[in-house]
Amino acid sequence: SDAGSQKERVVTEEEWIQKWEMGNIGFHKEQGHPLLQKYLDVLLNGRSGLRIFFPLCGKAVEMKWLADMGHSVVGVEVSEQAVKEFFSEHSLPYCEEPVPEISGAKMFQSTSGNISLYCCSIYDLSSSIVGKFDGVWDRGALVAVNPRDRQRYVSLMISLMEKNSSYLLVTVSYDPNKHKGPPFYVPESEIKSLFG
Ligand code: SAH
Repeated sequence: SDAGSQKERVVTEEEWIQKWEMGNIGFHKEQGHPLLQKYLDVLLNGRSGLRIFFPLCGKAVEMKWLADMGHSVVGVEVSEQAVKEFFSEHSLPYCEEPVPEISGAKMFQSTSGNISLYCCSIYDLSSSIVGKFDGVWDRGALVAVNPRDRQRYVSLMISLMEKNSSYLLVTVSYDPNKHKGPPFYVPESEIKSLFG
C-alpha cells in the first residue's frame, strides 16, 4: 500500500520522552488549533459541561481553552515534563497523586479540579480508571500512534466514549514515501475501517 514503508516503524515511549527533553517538539502549537475553533460546534453539539478527553495530549493549549469554557478535561501523556510545562505555562496550580490502578503512573490535577492529566501510557488506561467521555479532541494522537498499535488505540478510544459523544480527528495528508513519520500517514479508508 502507499503507507507500506511506514508500517513497521516504531517510536518508543522513551524516544518521546527524549524529544521533550531535547525540546524537539515542533508539533506543539502556541496558538489554539484553527480546526478546533472551526468545528467546536460539532464537538459540543449544543451541550455544556462536557467531559472531554485529550489522548496523547502533550501540553496542548486547547485543554486550557475548553476548561475555561466550563468543560472538564482529561488528558494522558507519557512525558511528565510536558504535563508540568502545561500547568506552569498557564500558571495553573496543581496537585500530583499516584494512580492506584497503574503502577508508576501519576495524575496531575489543577487545583480547581477541571483539568486532570494522567502521566502514563495511554494503553494503561481504561474506562474504569478515567470514566467515559462526551467528546474527544484527537490531534497529533492517532497520527502519532505506531502503525502496528492503531487497532488497539482505536478500540480503547471507542471504549472510552459515551453513547452520544463526538470525536474530532485531525490527520495529515502527505506522501508517506517521503517522510518516515510521525506524524504518520493514515489514509481515510483506514480511518473508516478502524472506527467502523
Ligand atoms: N496532542 C498534542 C501532542 C502531539 S505529539 C498536541 O496536539 O500538541 C504526541 C504526544 O504523545 C507526545 O507528547 C508524546 O510524548 C505522547 N505519547 C506518545 N506515545 C504515548 C503513549 N503511548 N501514551 C501517552 N502519551 C504518548
